[in-house]
This record gives sequence, C-alpha cells and structure tokens, in this order.
Amino acid sequence: MNPLLFVKKEPYKLYINGEFVVSESGRTFDVINPVDNQPFAAAYKGGAKDAKKAILAARHAYDEGPWSKMSAKERSKLLIKAGQILAKRVEEFAAIETLECGKLYMSALYYEAQMSVDAFEYFAGKARCLEGKVVPCEGGHLNYVLWQPCGVVGEILPWNGPFMMGCQKICAILAAGNTVIIKPSSWASLSMLLLAEVFHEAGFPAGVVNVVTGSGDEVGDELVRSPLVDMVSMTGGTEVGKHIIGRSKDTVKDIALELGGKSPNIVFDDVNVDEVVKWTRFGFTLNAGQVCVSGTRLILHKNIYEEFILKLKAECEMLVPGSGFDYEKGVNFNTLISKEHARNVWDYIERGKSEGARVITGAKPYADPELSKGNFVPPTIFADVTPDMAIFQEEIFGPVLCIIPFETEEEAIEIANATKYGLAGAVFTTNVKRALRVAEKIKGGQIYVNTYFSKGMIESPGTGWKESGIGIAGIQKYMVSKTIFVDMVDGSIPQV
Ligand code: NAD
Repeated sequence: MNPLLFVKKEPYKLYINGEFVVSESGRTFDVINPVDNQPFAAAYKGGAKDAKKAILAARHAYDEGPWSKMSAKERSKLLIKAGQILAKRVEEFAAIETLECGKLYMSALYYEAQMSVDAFEYFAGKARCLEGKVVPCEGGHLNYVLWQPCGVVGEILPWNGPFMMGCQKICAILAAGNTVIIKPSSWASLSMLLLAEVFHEAGFPAGVVNVVTGSGDEVGDELVRSPLVDMVSMTGGTEVGKHIIGRSKDTVKDIALELGGKSPNIVFDDVNVDEVVKWTRFGFTLNAGQVCVSGTRLILHKNIYEEFILKLKAECEMLVPGSGFDYEKGVNFNTLISKEHARNVWDYIERGKSEGARVITGAKPYADPELSKGNFVPPTIFADVTPDMAIFQEEIFGPVLCIIPFETEEEAIEIANATKYGLAGAVFTTNVKRALRVAEKIKGGQIYVNTYFSKGMIESPGTGWKESGIGIAGIQKYMVSKTIFVDMVDGSIPQV
C-alpha cells in the first residue's frame, strides 16, 4: 500500500455551513509526517473570522434549521448512514492518521478506525434512548425531567487520538441533538477535515457539523468566548484547561474538560511477574506514551522490585521503533508527534537524571540515523524515584516510566494519590479483596484491575478527578436537564 495515494494534492479545506471552503485569510499550513518531519500535505488555516462564520452557521442550524425539528429516530438514521460511509473508508482514515500522527498503521486500522465506526453505531442507538424521568411530587403536581441538547457545541480536540476521539465526541454531540464546531489540534487536523466529507455525503443539514482548523489562541478562544456557543468541550492539557475556565467566565457557558494524567500502576508481590511486566510495558509505551491514561508511575512492591525491573527493561528493549507502516518489518513502537513535543520529553529525561533517579533503560537517542529524522524517544525507565521529583509529579506524555518502591498497602495508596492528577490507575494483585479495596481508594475516574487500558470507552467513559478534568462523561455531557411542573388539580389557585 502506498499511503500517499490517499493524500489530496490540493490543500484540505475547512467545512462551514455545508460547504468546503478556503479560509478567510487564504493561508495554508504544511502537514508534517513526524516519522521524518517532512511535509506530505497542506490544509487551510482557519482564524477567528472562520470560527465566527462557523458559529453563526451552527447557531442557525440549531435555532432555525431542520436539525432541531428532526426526531431522534431521524438523527439516528443519519448517524447510521454516516457510519456506513465511514466503514468503507477506514483504510484511508487509518493511513492519514498514521501519516499525520506517526501511529502504528495496524493499530490505527484495526483499533482506532473500528472504534470510530463503532461510535456511530453506538450513538445512533443512544439517540433513541434519551429518557427523562417522572419525580413523585407534592401539591398535585406532575413533575417530569427532560434531558435536552445544550445547543451549539464547540469541540476542541487534542492530537493524540484525533480520529477516534473526534468520532466518539461528535457522534455523542449529534445524537444528543446539538450542532457542532470542531476545532482539531494544529498538529492533527486531517482526520476531522476528512470526516466532514462523511457527514456531507450522509446528508446532514448545512451548519450541523462544521470543522475549523487553526490555533487554540485564535479559533479555540473564539469558541470559548462567543456568547453564541452554548457549551465547550475540550480535551487536552491541564494548563490549557485552566486557561479555558478563565476565558469562559464572561458567558458562564457549560464547559467540560478532559485533561492530563499521571496515572499510578500499583503492583503487589503476589502477582505473576512475567505477565504483569507485559501489562506494565504496554501501559506506558502504547502510542509512545502519548495516551492520557498511560500508567506512568509504577508503584512496585519491595519484594519483587529488582526482579521486576530487570524483566521490564528486557521487555522494553525488545520494542522495534520505526514508521507505523513498516509492520512487516516488526515495527511496534512509534514516534512522538513533533520535534517540540520530543524536546519537552527529553527535557524531562534530563531533569530525571539531574534529580538523581536511577536510569534503567533508554534516556538517550537511538543510534540509527534513519530514526533521528523523526521524533523517536526510546522507552525510558527511572527507578528509585521519589514523590518530590518533577518526573513523578508532572505529565510528560511520552514513553517515560517512574518506579517507586512500597511496602504496605496504605503506603502504596498514599504514593498513588500524591499528585494533582486523578485520571486513571491500576492495581495488580491476586488478592481480590485487596484489589477492590485499592481500586476504590485510588483517586481517579478510571481504574483497571489486573489489566491496563479498556475498550469500553463509550459505554463506560471515565471522568477526570482533581486537575484531570471537569464534567460528567458520556452523552449527558452534551445535554442539560430541565424539570417541568404541571398543575394537575382543578382550582388550585394561590390564596395569598
Ligand atoms: P493541548 O492542551 O496543547 O491542546 C488541546 C487543544 O486545545 C488543541 O486543539 C489546542 O489548539 C487547543 N487550545 C490551545 N490553547 C487554547 C486556548 N487558549 N483556547 C482554546 N483552545 C486552546 O493538548 P494536546 O497537546 O493537543 O494534547 C495532549 C494533552 O491532552 C495531554 O495532556 C493529555 O493527557 C490530554 N488528553 C486528555 C484526555 C482525557 O480524556 N482526559 C484524552 C486525550 C488527551
């Protein structure tokens, strides 16, 4: 397969009000392949004016267009149709995602693309199950609660899983009955620009779905501040999330934030070490560590400390870095998204060394000159880390693992909860009671027991605790409740 055959020769266009358009400024930007840092495509760069146009289109489609008059069944059928169109193009989407984000093609095709199609099917069903409830009420009132769409939603996406995450969020937004302006990350815009073609072909009314590329400071900020946008959902780093909280204050709009993590992985001494070594490696090297819920802090029982570390080192050193398309050559470890991001990760690695952590593996660039064209950082393990170190406290978002020993269960939980994040976590033990006890005590919205990661991302979405996010996850994130009281008693007129 030649993935470049899927790439358009002309710059990818924005999608506003049912049309593929060039940006108001006419400016374009290069789309870079992180495997060699060479441009392979171009896209129009949106700005505040494009965002304003898209907001007006989404507003009109929501307030006056056919969308809000459609039944849930009609919305559901449109989502099913779009999912079927997408299913026929999964190779193209997986190839584009691999080119743009440096992912492993097989994973993009057989995991992310399948999960993306699944999001259309799942939320098409969900659209028809948006039930409210009747509440027993005093005073002869019938009281019922409705869940209604927020209205116009701005969806701001990160670069680490733009296709799958984008589909999961947009399908939920549309199933709930909202209209949307999608702002992809500047480092990963193509999958959402392509997805617009799917919605267009499926026949979604103009303005229901809009895609505007551009910077967070300009396009993202316009979505956050505009009084015409009812709700903003953003997935990204905690610092940007905090900034958005401040910028949304003038409109007091609903915001939902899915932010960073530094998830603990607690391993007790009663486990099968060989198996848990594999889970632990997977938990921090998947997508080269660019996964929000990565298990980047290994809290390891003292009795198995050195044995486990030796085996984990060997497991990591077996990974084969390279282009995600080279699966036949055994490549199973990918690059980071950009030079800038790789530089940040290297800075943390240097910091770990200077903080006195013990380097077990990695921590220096690959010798192969071919890999130096890209942004590869080898799996890097630091042992004897302490909670005061920056590498323990801060999200690195690369393949860097910190290991810290523990003796008692209480100590393990204390270490696990000693950061500002609360996204995910794991516990490995054969003692069921202890597993459940520890799972309940880890402060985080998504906990794995004797496994790492889960495919149940839309049926049972995790929620960020502490500085890892705001807002309930799932379709209700994009809905608001309304409680209605109906007088059922004749002549019940107030006497005072
Ligand atoms: P980022 O915070 O740099 O950017 C996220 C998005 O916000 C981008 O589209 C960016 O353009 C936009 N943005 C930036 N400044 C903005 C502003 N002032 N106003 C509005 N929008 C703005 O994050 P990233 O580097 O793209 O992604 C990596 C981060 O995302 C990591 O911290 C990771 O943990 C987090 N993440 C979290 C989850 C989750 O479910 N909690 C999932 C995936 C990624």
